[in-house]
Amino acid sequence: MEPIRGEEKALVLDFLNIAEDYLRDGYRMPHPRVDIHETEDSLDTIAQEVHSCASCILASTRNNAVAGEGHPQPLVLVVGEGPGSEEDKTGRPFVGPAGQLLDRMLAAIDLSRQTNCFIANVVKCRPPNNRDPAPEEITACAPFLARQLKILRPLVILTVGRVPTQALLHTTEGIGRLRGRFFEYQGYPLFPTYHPSALLRDPSLKRPAWEDLKILRAKLDELMESQSS
Ligand code: SF4
Repeated sequence: MEPIRGEEKALVLDFLNIAEDYLRDGYRMPHPRVDIHETEDSLDTIAQEVHSCASCILASTRNNAVAGEGHPQPLVLVVGEGPGSEEDKTGRPFVGPAGQLLDRMLAAIDLSRQTNCFIANVVKCRPPNNRDPAPEEITACAPFLARQLKILRPLVILTVGRVPTQALLHTTEGIGRLRGRFFEYQGYPLFPTYHPSALLRDPSLKRPAWEDLKILRAKLDELMESQSS
């Protein structure tokens, strides 16, 4: 069989990109697709590197690094703070009580990690005693999230809680002031809301969190509509 020439290869790759979009219910990606041959990076490669990473002190106390999981072409990239105890045990993000609540919050607006969300954290290893990740730990881990974002290209980034929101927006403003509004992060709409663990501690935050989720859903519908028209 003759090898595929460059021009033909580009056509095949274009077709694959279009087919992928079609299979996603006609949804068009918000950013130009990167031809498969232009990037050798992948979610699996990132996960492998995360699992063997020792770029910050958190490597010395973790049981399992948690790279992230979810749909490889998500509508929403959920970004949390870092793994907790259950996540450190299992190597999966948001699987403890807060994770179960996050899944219910996402399901309430027709989102899930199985079908249209990817879930990651700003640090991939558990800070001991559930302390906040230190700025140098967030900085050391940032290239992994940046690479994930480049591959995933979601419609919206949803940050949950103070730490990831402040880290990505480079602000010291509290989550109470940042939540429920859209910001821009590297060309993507970024929308902060409360961390589910805050809702477990303070049920009075459930109402404003629900208001946030409705705003997020409306924005997603608007973006999907504009992509399909
Ligand atoms: Fe590496 Fe990130 Fe884990 Fe630090 S937190 S060891 S930078 S994977």
